[in-house]
Amino acid sequence: MNLEERARRQRMLEREAVTAAGCRLCAIGSQRRNNVYGEGDACARLMVVGEGPGETEDELGRPFVGRAGQLLDRMLAAIGLPREDVYICNTVKCRPTLAGPRGPRNRAPDPEEMANCRPFLDRQIEIVAPDVIMALGSPSAKSFLGRDFQITKMRGRWYAGPNGLPLMVTFHPAYVLRQTGGEIEAVKRLVWNDLKAVRARLDEIAVARDAPAPEESAAQPEQFSLFGDV
Ligand code: URA
Repeated sequence: MNLEERARRQRMLEREAVTAAGCRLCAIGSQRRNNVYGEGDACARLMVVGEGPGETEDELGRPFVGRAGQLLDRMLAAIGLPREDVYICNTVKCRPTLAGPRGPRNRAPDPEEMANCRPFLDRQIEIVAPDVIMALGSPSAKSFLGRDFQITKMRGRWYAGPNGLPLMVTFHPAYVLRQTGGEIEAVKRLVWNDLKAVRARLDEIAVARDAPAPEESAAQPEQFSLFGDV
């Protein structure tokens, strides 16, 4: 993508981010510290959609910058994609919280919040126009594929996402981090299979477009163990 086009999309995303920051449709719009609109390459071939900002994201105004975000970075690197080459965002742009004795706790976004925020996500998809979308975790998958989506049974397959874009669902990195014992390696292996499918699909699309595949795809995918200990 040429520099001019990248700059044009970046400007559109920046304008949208300002509109999103002014939104108070949900109560969480008034509770959050920062609106976490999304970040990354405005011409990314892969868009990653998580569920919603957590505490660190709310504090910094950036998606996936806490522990789960660090694992996401390693997952992407394992298929030859530096974080900055991907566009990363969430189904909701404000941190969903529950009141707790030691301050607000994270919770999953509810369907109304996701519906309120959906126009912002749709616009991001329209502007970035990725080749592939990867949904992380059940709330994100449900926002695209409906409430009946069951992640343990239905992840790891291709679906038609918004605008007919290929959509892959995998486990959320926070879920991977919550596993213990033998489950860790088992879940990591499933995620690794999903990531390899994403890499393969991106390469197929590049070939079909008769464009040289991006440089990073020439690299051999790393072993799944290389997205590190969790
Ligand atoms: N979990 C998410 O779903 N999104 C973030 O941005 C961070 C953690």
